[in-house]
Amino acid sequence: MTTVNPPYLDPALPVHQRVSDLLGRMTPAEKVGQMTQLPVFSDPDPVLDAVPVGSILHTDHDLIDHCITRALDTRLGIPLLVADDCIHGHSFWHGATIFPSQLAQACTWHPDLVRDAARATAREVAATGIGWTFSPVLCIARDTRWGRVDETLGEDPWLIGELGSAMTAGYQSNRLDDPETVMATAKHFLAYSQTQGGRDASEADVTPRGIRSWFAPPFEKAARDGVATFMLGYQAIDGVPITINTPLIRGMLKQEWGFDGLLVTDWDNVGRMVWEQKIFASYAEASAAAINAGIDIAMSTPQFFQGTLDALDAGLVTMAPIDEAVRRILSLKFRMGLFENPRRPDAERQREVIACQAHQDLNLDAARASLVLLANDGVLPLPAAGTESRRIALVGPSCDDPDAQIGDWARASGQGMKFLGHPGDVTTVAGGLAKLLPEGWQLSVGPACTITTTAPDPAGEFFPDGQPRPAITVPAPADPAALDRAVKAAADADVAVAVVGDNVRLTGEGRSTATLELIGPQKELLERVIATGTPTVVIVVSSKPLVLPGCADDAAALIQAFNPGLRGGQAIAELLLGLTEPVGRLPISMPRHAGQLPVHYNMVRGTHGARYADLPFEPFRAFGEGLAYTRFHYEDAALEADQIGADDVVVATVSIVNDGDRPLTETVQAYVRHPVTPVTWADKELKGFTQVQVPPHSSATARVEVPVADCSIVDAAGRRIVPTGPCELLIGHSSLDADLTALHFTITGRA
Ligand code: BGC
Repeated sequence: MTTVNPPYLDPALPVHQRVSDLLGRMTPAEKVGQMTQLPVFSDPDPVLDAVPVGSILHTDHDLIDHCITRALDTRLGIPLLVADDCIHGHSFWHGATIFPSQLAQACTWHPDLVRDAARATAREVAATGIGWTFSPVLCIARDTRWGRVDETLGEDPWLIGELGSAMTAGYQSNRLDDPETVMATAKHFLAYSQTQGGRDASEADVTPRGIRSWFAPPFEKAARDGVATFMLGYQAIDGVPITINTPLIRGMLKQEWGFDGLLVTDWDNVGRMVWEQKIFASYAEASAAAINAGIDIAMSTPQFFQGTLDALDAGLVTMAPIDEAVRRILSLKFRMGLFENPRRPDAERQREVIACQAHQDLNLDAARASLVLLANDGVLPLPAAGTESRRIALVGPSCDDPDAQIGDWARASGQGMKFLGHPGDVTTVAGGLAKLLPEGWQLSVGPACTITTTAPDPAGEFFPDGQPRPAITVPAPADPAALDRAVKAAADADVAVAVVGDNVRLTGEGRSTATLELIGPQKELLERVIATGTPTVVIVVSSKPLVLPGCADDAAALIQAFNPGLRGGQAIAELLLGLTEPVGRLPISMPRHAGQLPVHYNMVRGTHGARYADLPFEPFRAFGEGLAYTRFHYEDAALEADQIGADDVVVATVSIVNDGDRPLTETVQAYVRHPVTPVTWADKELKGFTQVQVPPHSSATARVEVPVADCSIVDAAGRRIVPTGPCELLIGHSSLDADLTALHFTITGRA
């Protein structure tokens, strides 16, 4: 007797037919199971026995294969989606490539490099049985006290859109059925970063027009570019948790933008509406409301499964929105080819791709391009090998700290993923310098202090239910003898290199900071080292822009290194020694004081004056800034045409002249300014950039194109419009007016 396979197992049939056939065979429980995503931290069987889940996350790596088998062994054999946060590399996998953080990658202003890093990540991740990464983050970082700034691409909606799309292209390669790709996630929809006081997951004070103006554009681009999945944030807007915000989910995302992929909640969003936000009395009501608003998958709410079945019984939800969600889930599973290839972990493929030489080389390139030189009195690069021997005193708590260098969502950073031991593959600044220092140079290494330590929680050692309460993070105390030794080493050296910053205890969810200052004895260390008179290079290894003490103005040079990844220390050493050029540019402004926040460059016009009574309004360093080792200037900026129709493209050219002895990689930035707008608007907005290479003592011409459609603003009714009339393209080196040349044109409107 031959068995005939049901149509849904026939790969020759179109996806919609396979979906309809399978959906018709499923029970309500099987459908709701597909909409349920649960973590599998250790013993999977009790979790999988209780709920026929459609997807899992945070799964111990050695359990993934078993979970895939369990799903295939069910009545209908619907394959499992395995998801995880592989957001700057496969960073919880022992020995995998860990790229610079997303914020550090944004400093490269190099979409192809960012795409390639995501592609390499996809290859490593896919080989381990994971088919879905919760990346990229498209949140706009404005209140940088927030603990998750490192996960963002900075403060500018347009730059975030460009780089976010590059990441998605890297993860998905436009071929979801290719087993070397993973699904990307545009997160966290929408305005989650707009925190109150930097505190995580608060009410987001945004208006509908503000959403249209700043927060929605990167997400709209992601949806239109074909990102496979979206994730909600934790925020509520005007009293409505995002999980049940029907106008944003069904109206904007699904209908207006035509997003046909999966929308997953954030961690226990459905449950939070019951126990945290307290807007529903039961899981049945919360689950029904979330489904009715348009979510497709509920992440990490174990009660969602039974809650939804109860809601069906009670008539709080019908089968229609459930079928709609399950259709989307099954469609993606079919499109990924999971029914034909469930994408089990592949040990041989892991050996081939994980941390392969090509990925390590790419990682070093990304780290190099992520470093931003912010001050230099000429001390850098340190004199070339062979000229004279030098004594370098390397001090500061981050000079040899692997975790501070690789940052959050990696290894021991503490998201609950199991990570056993360090493979010892991080090159710290100490390691990089030890390897690269020229013959005869001397290096002394003395961190002198740590940044934080822990202390018992003042609320008590135990929770009311008897569970131990985790210790809290407090500033580390000074060790006077260690500080004295570091200061003496600096005084005796030709150059001091002080590596300061923050650490993973000060980064991430639940780890927002009230201040942005250097924590612990770091300020004292910097002041004393700089006061020795030895030229001091300050390197800030941090998750986000920090506020530096006044003494930093007397540093001989300043380098910003947002968590630069496994190869970061080597990249920093190369830069110090002039083996590479500084090419990074800030994707985010650096405040002088946390009290200036928000201090992003694209503030809306109309504020009175230019100063507080005690500080200027300007940040310490502005969006787009970053120095080179060579001297250069811009000249001959011009537009190809100055009367431009609404469907045309503004084309600008400019020469960059390298007056110095070293090669230049310059990021030419183009901002749009409307002299008059019908509503108050940003004085300028980034709308284009390009990178040019200019050899020493020569020049190169850069060409930047900005479609007039991008010269838009959002009017009082919330519509995005392109105002006709006079407009300016500002072209130059950074967002600072002093660095920009204004080119005038007229938008003539549609013919
Ligand atoms: C975070 C998400 C993350 C999810 C799964 C949440 O707490 O907000 O960004 O993807 O956990 O780990």
